[in-house]
Formats: sequence, structure tokens, C-alpha cells
Amino acid sequence: MGFFDFLKPKPQRCTRCQADTLMASELYSGLSGGEVTAVLCPKCLLKELGKACQGKNILFVEPLVMDYYLFTPGDSPDINTLVQQRLQAALERLGRSCAECAQPAEHLWMPQSDLDRKAMGQLPEDGYTSIASLPQDWKASRSYCLGHVLEKLEKHMEQEKSGFLTFRLPNEAAMGYYE
Ligand SMILES: [Zn+2]
Ligand SMILES: [Zn+2]
Repeated sequence: MGFFDFLKPKPQRCTRCQADTLMASELYSGLSGGEVTAVLCPKCLLKELGKACQGKNILFVEPLVMDYYLFTPGDSPDINTLVQQRLQAALERLGRSCAECAQPAEHLWMPQSDLDRKAMGQLPEDGYTSIASLPQDWKASRSYCLGHVLEKLEKHMEQEKSGFLTFRLPNEAAMGYYE
């Protein structure tokens, strides 16, 4: 064993497909608290996310960090009113069809550059969250079918060469956002 070997990430075994992965995500139960229910490779993570997102409308904010990717339901009592209004405005402006194919669009991908930095700058430090800009200010946000929004997320993980350390699936909420 070399001197620096302890710095190398150790592969973890995926709970579902049993493959060893350096990009493992710990899947937690529920939307907060809870416990680790599985360790997933990127492929199995995307498969479970796909199942959990079916029939919903979700705003996917481009992940800023790879530490976590968490879901907040649109009707959560904890959600800031402005965040909720912007989420609704964003999802109401979903295009009719996916930007990549002819399927109906159900989800929105919003790059960090389309967030409302000004509004976010006024948030208290302990209530910091992503705030979508108004649809008329969007430059790169696009509507996608489920398959293509998952592809955006997969590409992001490949680009970052990393899986999310912590991941939570949407519960029964019909709409909400990932950030
Ligand atoms: Zn797997
Ligand atoms: Zn599509």
C-alpha cells in the first residue's frame, strides 16, 4: 500500500446491482431525518428517481454541490412564500413538449444562471435556498420529459465525476423542486 493510498476514494457496493462504484449515493428515507435505505450507483439512482418522479411536475435546479440533492414539496409548510410562488410560476410555464423529443414536458431544468440572485441575496443565512427567476428572465431553462431530465442529471454527475453523497426521493408530493 502506497503512502497516499488512504486519500483515494474507496469503491462502495451498490445495494441494487451489486456493482462496485466510486460514485455512490446514500439514499435516505423521507424528506428529512430518516435513515440510509440503500447505497446506489448512478445508474440505479437514476432508475429509482425515474420511478419516483413519474406523473409529477418537478423543477430540477442545476446542482451547485455534490454533497446532496434534496426534494422539497411545493406545498411544504416550511417553504418560503416567494420560493413557492416562483416554483408555481416556473411549473405553470412548462413547455408543451420536451426540448429534446416530442413527448409531453413534465419537468423543468433550471441552470444556476437562471436563479434570482437578487432575491436569494436577501434571504437570511439559515433560510438560504434557490429561488427561480420569473419566466420572462429565463435564458437557459428548458422543459423536458422524464427521460431527458434524468439525462441532464446523469450528464451533470459525469461532468462532476461524482455521485451525490446524500439523495432523497420525492414522497407522495405531486410537485416540488430539487436543489
Ligand atoms: Zn447499481
Ligand atoms: Zn424528451
